Amino acid sequence: MGSFAKLSRVVRAVVVEHGETTRDAVVRAFTRTLAYHEEPADLSFDRTLRDDLMEDLPAYDKARRDGVRLLTYTLTAEGVDAVADSKGKHYQIQLRVTGVSCDCPAASRWFRGAVCKHQALVVHELLFGADVDPEARARALYLCGHVFGDVLDIGTRLAEALGLLLRWDLAGKVPGGWRATGLGQVASASGFDLLLVHQVAGRLRTAGKSGYREIALWAVDDFYADLRERDRWRVAVSAWLDEVDVRQIKLPAKYRGDFEQGLERLAQVCLLYERAAQSLGHAHLAAAARDASGALRYGVAPEVVPLMGLGFPQLRRARARYLYDRRIRDVSELANADPAQIADPRRVPLRYVTDWVERARQIHSARAVAAAHRGGAPAGFDDLIDRFRPDPAAERHGQVIVPEKRRRKGSEPAGIYQLRTACRPRRRAGAPVAPRRISATRLCGRGASSHGRAPA
Ligand SMILES: [Zn+2]
Repeated sequence: MGSFAKLSRVVRAVVVEHGETTRDAVVRAFTRTLAYHEEPADLSFDRTLRDDLMEDLPAYDKARRDGVRLLTYTLTAEGVDAVADSKGKHYQIQLRVTGVSCDCPAASRWFRGAVCKHQALVVHELLFGADVDPEARARALYLCGHVFGDVLDIGTRLAEALGLLLRWDLAGKVPGGWRATGLGQVASASGFDLLLVHQVAGRLRTAGKSGYREIALWAVDDFYADLRERDRWRVAVSAWLDEVDVRQIKLPAKYRGDFEQGLERLAQVCLLYERAAQSLGHAHLAAAARDASGALRYGVAPEVVPLMGLGFPQLRRARARYLYDRRIRDVSELANADPAQIADPRRVPLRYVTDWVERARQIHSARAVAAAHRGGAPAGFDDLIDRFRPDPAAERHGQVIVPEKRRRKGSEPAGIYQLRTACRPRRRAGAPVAPRRISATRLCGRGASSHGRAPA
Protein backbone atom coordinates (compact mmCIF):
# COMPACT_ATOMS: atom_id res chain seq x y z
CA MET A 1 0.00 0.00 0.00
CA GLY A 2 1.20 3.41 -0.85
CA SER A 3 1.72 6.44 1.25
CA PHE A 4 -0.38 8.74 3.30
CA ALA A 5 -0.27 11.19 0.41
CA LYS A 6 -1.98 8.71 -1.89
CA LEU A 7 -4.56 8.08 0.75
CA SER A 8 -5.27 11.72 1.30
CA ARG A 9 -5.74 12.01 -2.45
CA VAL A 10 -8.38 9.31 -2.29
CA VAL A 11 -10.11 11.22 0.46
CA ARG A 12 -9.83 14.47 -1.44
CA ALA A 13 -11.07 12.97 -4.68
CA VAL A 14 -14.13 11.50 -2.96
CA VAL A 15 -14.87 14.74 -1.18
CA VAL A 16 -14.56 16.76 -4.39
CA GLU A 17 -16.44 14.31 -6.58
CA HIS A 18 -19.44 14.01 -4.33
CA GLY A 19 -19.44 17.54 -3.01
CA GLU A 20 -19.58 16.04 0.43
CA THR A 21 -18.94 12.65 1.87
CA THR A 22 -18.90 10.44 4.94
CA ARG A 23 -16.21 8.22 6.32
CA ASP A 24 -18.04 5.19 4.98
CA ALA A 25 -18.03 6.66 1.47
CA VAL A 26 -14.31 7.28 1.72
CA VAL A 27 -13.75 3.74 2.94
CA ARG A 28 -15.88 2.36 0.11
CA ALA A 29 -13.96 4.40 -2.46
CA PHE A 30 -10.68 3.34 -0.97
CA THR A 31 -11.55 -0.36 -1.10
CA ARG A 32 -12.04 0.06 -4.84
CA THR A 33 -8.50 1.33 -5.39
CA LEU A 34 -5.71 -0.77 -6.81
CA ALA A 35 -3.63 -0.16 -3.72
CA TYR A 36 -6.27 -1.80 -1.55
CA HIS A 37 -6.57 -4.80 -3.83
CA GLU A 38 -2.84 -5.33 -3.78
CA GLU A 39 -2.93 -5.46 -0.01
CA PRO A 40 -6.42 -5.79 1.44
CA ALA A 41 -6.68 -5.05 5.12
CA ASP A 42 -9.33 -4.53 7.74
CA LEU A 43 -10.38 -0.94 8.02
CA SER A 44 -10.61 -0.29 11.70
CA PHE A 45 -10.54 3.08 13.39
CA ASP A 46 -9.81 1.78 16.90
CA ARG A 47 -6.13 2.46 17.32
CA THR A 48 -4.66 5.80 18.18
CA LEU A 49 -2.01 7.24 15.92
CA ARG A 50 0.42 7.13 18.83
CA ASP A 51 0.03 3.38 19.41
CA ASP A 52 0.14 2.71 15.74
CA LEU A 53 3.18 4.83 14.89
CA MET A 54 5.38 4.38 17.94
CA GLU A 55 5.41 0.59 17.85
CA ASP A 56 7.38 0.98 14.62
CA LEU A 57 9.86 3.47 16.09
CA PRO A 58 11.62 1.38 18.74
CA ALA A 59 14.45 3.92 18.96
CA TYR A 60 12.06 6.13 20.91
CA ASP A 61 12.41 3.96 24.04
CA LYS A 62 16.17 4.30 23.88
CA ALA A 63 15.84 8.05 23.46
CA ARG A 64 13.73 8.18 26.65
CA ARG A 65 16.23 6.07 28.60
CA ASP A 66 19.12 8.24 27.40
CA GLY A 67 17.32 11.49 28.27
CA VAL A 68 17.22 12.91 24.73
CA ARG A 69 15.19 16.16 24.63
CA LEU A 70 13.61 18.30 21.92
CA LEU A 71 15.21 21.75 22.26
CA THR A 72 13.66 23.86 19.48
CA TYR A 73 11.86 23.52 16.18
CA THR A 74 11.16 25.86 13.26
CA LEU A 75 8.74 25.64 10.36
CA THR A 76 10.28 25.95 6.91
CA ALA A 77 8.75 25.95 3.45
CA GLU A 78 9.66 22.28 3.10
CA GLY A 79 8.79 20.94 6.51
CA VAL A 80 10.05 21.16 10.07
CA ASP A 81 13.63 21.59 11.35
CA ALA A 82 14.37 20.58 14.95
CA VAL A 83 17.29 20.48 17.36
CA ALA A 84 17.59 17.63 19.88
CA ASP A 85 19.85 17.56 22.94
CA SER A 86 21.55 14.29 23.84
CA LYS A 87 23.85 14.46 26.87
CA GLY A 88 24.80 18.04 26.06
CA LYS A 89 25.37 17.44 22.36
CA HIS A 90 23.02 19.05 19.84
CA TYR A 91 21.79 17.37 16.67
CA GLN A 92 19.85 18.79 13.72
CA ILE A 93 16.83 16.81 12.62
CA GLN A 94 14.91 17.62 9.43
CA LEU A 95 11.44 16.37 8.58
CA ARG A 96 10.72 16.48 4.87
CA VAL A 97 8.27 14.90 2.47
CA THR A 98 11.22 12.89 1.20
CA GLY A 99 12.30 11.60 4.62
CA VAL A 100 13.60 12.35 8.10
CA SER A 101 17.29 13.02 8.58
CA CYS A 102 19.64 13.59 11.53
CA ASP A 103 23.25 14.76 11.51
CA CYS A 104 24.35 12.41 14.32
CA PRO A 105 27.09 9.85 13.55
CA ALA A 106 24.72 6.93 14.13
CA ALA A 107 22.23 8.12 11.54
CA SER A 108 24.88 8.89 8.94
CA ARG A 109 27.15 5.87 9.47
CA TRP A 110 25.53 2.91 11.13
CA PHE A 111 21.84 3.17 10.64
CA ARG A 112 21.64 4.59 7.16
CA GLY A 113 17.96 4.55 6.27
CA ALA A 114 16.91 3.57 9.80
CA VAL A 115 15.44 5.90 12.38
CA CYS A 116 17.94 7.04 15.03
CA LYS A 117 16.86 7.86 18.59
CA HIS A 118 16.95 11.63 17.92
CA GLN A 119 14.62 11.31 14.96
CA ALA A 120 12.28 9.04 16.91
CA LEU A 121 12.17 11.48 19.82
CA VAL A 122 11.57 14.53 17.63
CA VAL A 123 8.77 12.77 15.74
CA HIS A 124 7.15 11.75 19.01
CA GLU A 125 7.44 15.16 20.63
CA LEU A 126 6.16 17.07 17.59
CA LEU A 127 3.17 14.78 17.23
CA PHE A 128 2.28 14.03 20.84
CA GLY A 129 4.30 16.32 23.10
CA ALA A 130 2.70 19.04 25.19
CA ASP A 131 2.97 22.70 24.12
CA VAL A 132 3.72 22.06 20.46
CA ASP A 133 2.36 24.71 18.10
CA PRO A 134 -0.70 23.23 16.30
CA GLU A 135 0.64 24.17 12.86
CA ALA A 136 3.96 22.47 13.59
CA ARG A 137 2.04 19.40 14.71
CA ALA A 138 -0.08 19.36 11.54
CA ARG A 139 2.99 19.71 9.36
CA ALA A 140 4.81 16.97 11.25
CA LEU A 141 1.77 14.77 10.83
CA TYR A 142 1.68 15.39 7.09
CA LEU A 143 5.39 14.68 6.70
CA CYS A 144 5.24 11.58 8.91
CA GLY A 145 2.31 10.41 6.82
CA HIS A 146 4.59 10.52 3.80
CA VAL A 147 7.57 8.95 5.52
CA PHE A 148 5.96 6.41 7.85
CA GLY A 149 2.60 6.03 6.14
CA ASP A 150 3.34 2.46 5.14
CA VAL A 151 3.64 1.27 8.73
CA LEU A 152 0.30 2.72 9.83
CA ASP A 153 -3.06 0.94 9.78
CA ILE A 154 -5.28 2.07 6.96
CA GLY A 155 -7.93 3.20 9.42
CA THR A 156 -5.40 5.38 11.22
CA ARG A 157 -4.24 6.83 7.93
CA LEU A 158 -7.76 7.63 6.77
CA ALA A 159 -8.65 9.27 10.03
CA GLU A 160 -5.46 11.36 10.07
CA ALA A 161 -5.78 12.32 6.40
CA LEU A 162 -9.31 13.57 6.99
CA GLY A 163 -8.25 15.46 10.10
CA LEU A 164 -5.47 17.17 8.19
CA LEU A 165 -7.73 18.17 5.30
CA LEU A 166 -10.06 19.79 7.82
CA ARG A 167 -7.27 21.56 9.63
CA TRP A 168 -5.79 22.97 6.43
CA ASP A 169 -9.18 24.13 5.22
CA LEU A 170 -9.13 21.78 2.24
CA ALA A 171 -12.29 20.11 3.50
CA GLY A 172 -15.02 21.35 5.83
CA LYS A 173 -17.36 19.50 8.14
CA VAL A 174 -21.04 19.20 7.29
CA PRO A 175 -23.60 17.16 9.26
CA GLY A 176 -22.62 13.51 8.92
CA GLY A 177 -19.57 14.04 6.74
CA TRP A 178 -17.23 16.43 4.98
CA ARG A 179 -17.36 18.81 2.07
CA ALA A 180 -14.57 20.12 -0.17
CA THR A 181 -13.78 23.80 0.32
CA GLY A 182 -12.93 26.08 -2.61
CA LEU A 183 -9.29 25.66 -1.68
CA GLY A 184 -9.72 21.87 -1.60
CA GLN A 185 -11.03 21.97 -5.15
CA VAL A 186 -8.06 24.08 -6.23
CA ALA A 187 -5.73 21.56 -4.59
CA SER A 188 -7.42 18.68 -6.39
CA ALA A 189 -7.31 20.36 -9.77
CA SER A 190 -3.73 21.57 -9.47
CA GLY A 191 -2.15 18.24 -8.58
CA PHE A 192 0.45 20.03 -6.45
CA ASP A 193 1.69 18.71 -3.15
CA LEU A 194 -0.80 19.55 -0.37
CA LEU A 195 1.85 21.20 1.77
CA LEU A 196 2.55 23.62 -1.07
CA VAL A 197 -1.15 24.42 -1.48
CA HIS A 198 -1.41 24.95 2.26
CA GLN A 199 1.65 27.19 2.24
CA VAL A 200 0.31 29.21 -0.70
CA ALA A 201 -3.01 29.73 1.08
CA GLY A 202 -1.19 30.76 4.26
CA ARG A 203 0.80 33.42 2.40
CA LEU A 204 -2.31 34.72 0.63
CA ARG A 205 -4.28 35.04 3.86
CA THR A 206 -1.70 37.45 5.28
CA ALA A 207 -0.49 39.01 2.03
CA GLY A 208 -2.13 42.44 2.00
CA LYS A 209 -1.59 44.08 -1.37
CA SER A 210 1.38 42.19 -2.76
CA GLY A 211 2.38 42.81 -6.36
CA TYR A 212 3.35 40.45 -9.14
CA ARG A 213 7.08 40.56 -8.43
CA GLU A 214 6.59 39.58 -4.84
CA ILE A 215 4.40 36.66 -5.86
CA ALA A 216 6.94 35.54 -8.49
CA LEU A 217 9.63 35.45 -5.78
CA TRP A 218 7.31 33.57 -3.41
CA ALA A 219 7.04 30.95 -6.11
CA VAL A 220 10.85 30.70 -6.18
CA ASP A 221 10.94 30.35 -2.39
CA ASP A 222 8.21 27.71 -2.47
CA PHE A 223 9.73 25.73 -5.23
CA TYR A 224 13.46 25.57 -4.54
CA ALA A 225 14.19 23.80 -1.29
CA ASP A 226 17.97 24.25 -1.31
CA LEU A 227 18.98 27.68 0.02
CA ARG A 228 21.84 28.30 -2.37
CA GLU A 229 19.83 27.14 -5.34
CA ARG A 230 16.99 29.38 -4.22
CA ASP A 231 19.28 32.42 -4.04
CA ARG A 232 20.63 31.77 -7.53
CA TRP A 233 17.07 31.53 -8.86
CA ARG A 234 15.97 34.67 -7.06
CA VAL A 235 18.78 36.71 -8.64
CA ALA A 236 18.19 35.26 -12.12
CA VAL A 237 14.41 35.62 -11.95
CA SER A 238 14.68 39.25 -10.84
CA ALA A 239 16.87 40.03 -13.85
CA TRP A 240 14.55 38.05 -16.14
CA LEU A 241 11.57 40.09 -14.95
CA ASP A 242 13.59 43.27 -15.53
CA GLU A 243 13.78 42.23 -19.21
CA VAL A 244 17.55 41.75 -19.04
CA ASP A 245 18.89 39.92 -22.08
CA VAL A 246 19.13 36.25 -21.17
CA ARG A 247 22.76 36.17 -22.34
CA GLN A 248 23.55 38.66 -19.60
CA ILE A 249 21.87 36.63 -16.86
CA LYS A 250 23.94 34.27 -14.76
CA LEU A 251 21.84 31.16 -15.23
CA PRO A 252 20.86 29.26 -12.08
CA ALA A 253 20.91 26.01 -14.06
CA LYS A 254 23.59 24.59 -16.31
CA TYR A 255 21.66 24.84 -19.55
CA ARG A 256 19.38 27.50 -20.87
CA GLY A 257 16.71 24.88 -21.50
CA ASP A 258 16.72 24.00 -17.80
CA PHE A 259 16.32 27.67 -16.95
CA GLU A 260 13.35 27.95 -19.29
CA GLN A 261 11.82 24.79 -17.85
CA GLY A 262 12.26 26.20 -14.35
CA LEU A 263 10.54 29.43 -15.37
CA GLU A 264 7.62 27.43 -16.73
CA ARG A 265 7.29 25.57 -13.41
CA LEU A 266 7.39 28.83 -11.48
CA ALA A 267 4.70 30.22 -13.80
CA GLN A 268 2.64 27.15 -12.87
CA VAL A 269 3.09 27.83 -9.18
CA CYS A 270 1.85 31.39 -9.82
CA LEU A 271 -1.26 29.98 -11.47
CA LEU A 272 -1.79 27.99 -8.29
CA TYR A 273 -1.52 31.30 -6.42
CA GLU A 274 -4.08 32.81 -8.78
CA ARG A 275 -6.61 30.06 -8.29
CA ALA A 276 -6.08 29.85 -4.55
CA ALA A 277 -6.49 33.64 -4.28
CA GLN A 278 -9.74 33.43 -6.24
CA SER A 279 -11.05 30.71 -3.96
CA LEU A 280 -10.17 32.82 -0.92
CA GLY A 281 -11.90 35.87 -2.41
CA HIS A 282 -8.75 37.99 -2.94
CA ALA A 283 -9.39 39.40 -6.43
CA HIS A 284 -6.45 41.80 -6.30
CA LEU A 285 -3.96 39.06 -5.40
CA ALA A 286 -5.43 36.74 -8.04
CA ALA A 287 -4.80 39.40 -10.70
CA ALA A 288 -1.26 39.99 -9.42
CA ALA A 289 -0.57 36.24 -9.46
CA ARG A 290 -1.83 36.00 -13.02
CA ASP A 291 0.49 38.88 -13.95
CA ALA A 292 3.34 37.07 -12.19
CA SER A 293 2.68 33.93 -14.20
CA GLY A 294 2.78 35.77 -17.53
CA ALA A 295 5.80 37.84 -16.52
CA LEU A 296 7.72 34.69 -15.52
CA ARG A 297 6.79 32.82 -18.65
CA TYR A 298 7.79 35.61 -21.02
CA GLY A 299 10.40 37.55 -19.07
CA VAL A 300 8.71 40.89 -19.44
CA ALA A 301 6.72 43.27 -17.25
CA PRO A 302 2.99 42.45 -17.22
CA GLU A 303 2.11 45.29 -19.60
CA VAL A 304 4.11 43.61 -22.38
CA VAL A 305 2.70 40.11 -21.75
CA PRO A 306 -0.30 40.58 -24.11
CA LEU A 307 2.09 41.05 -27.03
CA MET A 308 4.31 38.12 -26.00
CA GLY A 309 1.26 35.91 -25.54
CA LEU A 310 0.50 36.19 -29.24
CA GLY A 311 3.46 33.93 -29.92
CA PHE A 312 4.16 35.55 -33.30
CA PRO A 313 7.40 34.55 -35.02
CA GLN A 314 10.33 36.86 -34.24
CA LEU A 315 8.23 38.83 -31.76
CA ARG A 316 10.28 38.27 -28.65
CA ARG A 317 11.09 40.30 -25.58
CA ALA A 318 13.07 43.22 -27.01
CA ARG A 319 10.80 43.70 -30.01
CA ALA A 320 7.65 43.38 -27.92
CA ARG A 321 9.00 46.11 -25.65
CA TYR A 322 9.84 48.17 -28.73
CA LEU A 323 6.23 47.89 -29.94
CA TYR A 324 4.88 48.68 -26.50
CA ASP A 325 6.99 51.83 -26.30
CA ARG A 326 5.38 52.88 -29.59
CA ARG A 327 1.93 52.57 -28.04
CA ILE A 328 1.11 49.19 -29.50
CA ARG A 329 -0.01 47.25 -26.50
CA ASP A 330 -2.21 44.41 -27.70
CA VAL A 331 -3.59 42.57 -30.67
CA SER A 332 -6.17 45.16 -31.69
CA GLU A 333 -3.66 48.00 -31.59
CA LEU A 334 -1.32 45.86 -33.64
CA ALA A 335 -4.11 45.10 -36.13
CA ASN A 336 -4.69 48.81 -36.62
CA ALA A 337 -1.01 49.72 -36.95
CA ASP A 338 0.78 50.87 -40.06
CA PRO A 339 3.82 48.57 -40.54
CA ALA A 340 5.86 51.22 -42.36
CA GLN A 341 5.55 53.62 -39.43
CA ILE A 342 6.67 51.09 -36.83
CA ALA A 343 9.44 49.31 -38.66
CA ASP A 344 13.06 50.13 -37.91
CA PRO A 345 15.62 48.56 -40.25
CA ARG A 346 18.05 47.84 -37.39
CA ARG A 347 15.68 46.50 -34.76
CA VAL A 348 12.38 45.52 -36.35
CA PRO A 349 12.54 44.80 -40.11
CA LEU A 350 9.51 45.81 -42.13
CA ARG A 351 8.78 42.26 -43.26
CA TYR A 352 8.42 41.14 -39.63
CA VAL A 353 6.02 43.94 -38.77
CA THR A 354 4.00 43.35 -41.93
CA ASP A 355 3.61 39.69 -40.97
CA TRP A 356 2.60 40.53 -37.36
CA VAL A 357 0.05 43.11 -38.44
CA GLU A 358 -1.44 40.63 -40.91
CA ARG A 359 -1.72 37.96 -38.21
CA ALA A 360 -3.20 40.45 -35.76
CA ARG A 361 -5.82 41.44 -38.34
CA GLN A 362 -6.82 37.81 -38.82
CA ILE A 363 -7.27 37.29 -35.08
CA HIS A 364 -9.14 40.55 -34.89
CA SER A 365 -11.62 39.62 -37.60
CA ALA A 366 -12.04 36.08 -36.22
CA ARG A 367 -13.03 37.76 -33.00
CA ALA A 368 -15.54 39.98 -34.73
CA VAL A 369 -17.08 36.85 -36.24
CA ALA A 370 -17.20 35.29 -32.77
CA ALA A 371 -18.98 38.34 -31.38
CA ALA A 372 -21.50 38.37 -34.24
CA HIS A 373 -22.34 34.69 -33.82
CA ARG A 374 -22.38 34.41 -30.08
CA GLY A 375 -24.75 31.57 -29.24
CA GLY A 376 -24.67 30.02 -32.70
CA ALA A 377 -21.20 29.43 -33.99
CA PRO A 378 -20.96 28.75 -37.72
CA ALA A 379 -19.40 25.52 -38.96
CA GLY A 380 -15.65 25.67 -39.03
CA PHE A 381 -15.52 28.41 -36.46
CA ASP A 382 -13.69 26.29 -33.91
CA ASP A 383 -11.02 25.45 -36.43
CA LEU A 384 -10.60 29.08 -37.26
CA ILE A 385 -10.18 30.08 -33.65
CA ASP A 386 -7.96 27.10 -32.96
CA ARG A 387 -5.60 28.20 -35.67
CA PHE A 388 -5.10 31.58 -34.08
CA ARG A 389 -5.71 30.86 -30.46
CA PRO A 390 -3.14 32.84 -28.56
CA ASP A 391 -2.10 32.31 -25.00
CA PRO A 392 -4.82 33.68 -22.67
CA ALA A 393 -2.09 36.02 -21.45
CA ALA A 394 -2.50 37.83 -24.78
CA GLU A 395 -5.85 39.11 -23.53
CA ARG A 396 -5.23 42.48 -22.04
CA HIS A 397 -8.51 42.70 -20.21
CA GLY A 398 -8.66 39.17 -18.99
CA GLN A 399 -11.11 37.75 -21.55
CA VAL A 400 -10.02 34.41 -22.88
CA ILE A 401 -10.87 33.03 -26.27
CA VAL A 402 -12.71 29.82 -25.53
CA PRO A 403 -14.28 28.26 -28.60
CA GLU A 404 -18.06 28.28 -28.23
CA LYS A 405 -18.55 24.59 -28.83
CA ARG A 406 -16.16 23.67 -26.06
CA ARG A 407 -17.60 26.19 -23.70
CA ARG A 408 -21.01 24.61 -24.07
CA LYS A 409 -19.77 21.06 -23.58
CA GLY A 410 -20.09 21.41 -19.86
CA SER A 411 -17.92 18.40 -19.09
CA GLU A 412 -15.11 20.69 -18.14
CA PRO A 413 -15.49 24.00 -16.34
CA ALA A 414 -14.08 26.98 -18.19
CA GLY A 415 -11.56 27.53 -15.42
CA ILE A 416 -9.87 24.21 -16.10
CA TYR A 417 -9.75 24.98 -19.76
CA GLN A 418 -8.11 28.31 -19.13
CA LEU A 419 -5.52 26.66 -16.93
CA ARG A 420 -4.77 24.15 -19.64
CA THR A 421 -4.25 26.71 -22.34
CA ALA A 422 -2.23 28.85 -19.99
CA CYS A 423 -0.06 25.81 -19.28
CA ARG A 424 1.07 25.66 -22.86
CA PRO A 425 4.84 25.49 -23.02
CA ARG A 426 6.82 28.25 -24.64
CA ARG A 427 7.28 27.70 -28.29
CA ARG A 428 10.77 27.66 -29.62
CA ALA A 429 11.65 29.44 -32.83
CA GLY A 430 10.94 27.22 -35.78
CA ALA A 431 8.51 25.00 -33.88
CA PRO A 432 5.08 24.51 -35.42
CA VAL A 433 2.63 27.30 -34.70
CA ALA A 434 -0.34 25.09 -33.85
CA PRO A 435 -0.47 24.81 -30.05
CA ARG A 436 -0.34 21.36 -28.53
CA ARG A 437 -2.96 20.74 -25.92
CA ILE A 438 -1.39 19.60 -22.71
CA SER A 439 -3.23 18.90 -19.51
CA ALA A 440 -2.31 20.79 -16.40
CA THR A 441 -1.56 17.64 -14.48
CA ARG A 442 0.88 16.45 -17.07
CA LEU A 443 2.75 19.69 -17.05
CA CYS A 444 2.74 19.90 -13.30
CA GLY A 445 4.41 16.51 -13.08
CA ARG A 446 8.02 17.23 -12.35
CA GLY A 447 10.46 16.66 -9.58
CA ALA A 448 12.87 19.51 -8.98
CA SER A 449 11.89 19.74 -5.34
CA SER A 450 9.72 18.03 -2.86
CA HIS A 451 6.88 20.35 -3.79
CA GLY A 452 7.14 19.71 -7.45
CA ARG A 453 5.86 16.20 -7.29
CA ALA A 454 2.48 15.64 -8.78
CA PRO A 455 0.39 12.72 -7.72
CA ALA A 456 1.24 9.50 -9.51
ZN1 LIG B 1 20.40 11.06 15.32
